[in-house]
Amino acid sequence: MSINFREEIKDLQAYKPGKPIEDVKREYGLDEVIKLASNENPLGCSPKAIEAIKKACDNLALYPDGNATLLKEKIAEKLNIKPSQVLPSSGSDEMIDQISKTFIDKGDEIIMADITFPRYIATAKMMGGTPVIVPLKDWAYDLEGMLEAITDKTKIIWLCNPNNPTGTMFTKEKLINFLDKVPRDIVVVYDEAYNEYVTRDDYPKNSIELLDDYPNIIIMRTFSKVYGLASLRVGYTMASEEIISNINKIRGPFNVNTLAQVAAIASLEDDDFLRKSYELNKEGKEYLYKEFDSMGLKYAPSETNHIFVNVNKNGQEVFVELQKKGMIIRPMQDTWIRVSIGTMDQNKKFIKLLKEVI
Ligand SMILES: *Cc1c(COP(=O)(O)O)cnc(C)c1O
Repeated sequence: MSINFREEIKDLQAYKPGKPIEDVKREYGLDEVIKLASNENPLGCSPKAIEAIKKACDNLALYPDGNATLLKEKIAEKLNIKPSQVLPSSGSDEMIDQISKTFIDKGDEIIMADITFPRYIATAKMMGGTPVIVPLKDWAYDLEGMLEAITDKTKIIWLCNPNNPTGTMFTKEKLINFLDKVPRDIVVVYDEAYNEYVTRDDYPKNSIELLDDYPNIIIMRTFSKVYGLASLRVGYTMASEEIISNINKIRGPFNVNTLAQVAAIASLEDDDFLRKSYELNKEGKEYLYKEFDSMGLKYAPSETNHIFVNVNKNGQEVFVELQKKGMIIRPMQDTWIRVSIGTMDQNKKFIKLLKEVI
């Protein structure tokens, strides 16, 4: 007699995170290790968030506010929507999970790109859904291809704009044209984890306005990237009241912890930190582009805080060699790697070491 696990999880693999900085230091006897692997903010987070956390530390014995009322109100006020259209979560990761649990029945078809954020496919499989993969074109979303993939069985379409890991974006015009053609009983999840980093003005910066016209859209944002709060696990989602109230049914009672809630609220009050982060990222991106150009390396145009670059040498090997020298990046397929944009010192160090390795 043996235990039976659900059929749906048999072929799934556990997520393999990059090695923590401390492990790499120990393994290679290094004093300094720089991690440009997970698209974290090199400036840390807003000092206001740290102040708020310190205050909240006075009492950690109480459960958090399960409704995250103040955070919801803050977001709603800032974006001019109703608090009942907002749902905070323990990172966007948790929300991807919750959306899949809310909508996917066995056999439903779930349309997504390849390559894109890996949680979309993992949670689809977990729920017994059938992933329908539409390859990227020139490292960008093929929205026409995604429309063609729609069938009677389609339940969710995942859009990541700009995309992780390629950094590419599609325009507001293309998004609206796409939404106009998607039947209203199909849920379109619009993940904009890097919204705040986008520099191009044809990007749908104010996606919130789409909520009025498209009752089937779910917009996801996170505090992990430009706000620099990845360790706390907090993000938020916006959709119709009907969608939010249904996701709420499967949500764990205290999914966003108190420190995350207060830090997120304080972060929303610090536009200065946001601007500094944006500027630093822009400067770093231009520097890295220039260096890649002079090294003859091809890259996808990025509207995020990371660059998808072809190093003309096996990405896994380059990753290992860089790691030995104290630089952690993310190997992707073939000869491509993804590097997060760091401080200018970190970017310069990365280029120096990359030149040594390739
Ligand atoms: C980082 C990232 C997330 C997850 O963010 P968390 O809020 O830290 O869970 C979601 N989507 C994309 C595209 C990301 O890059």
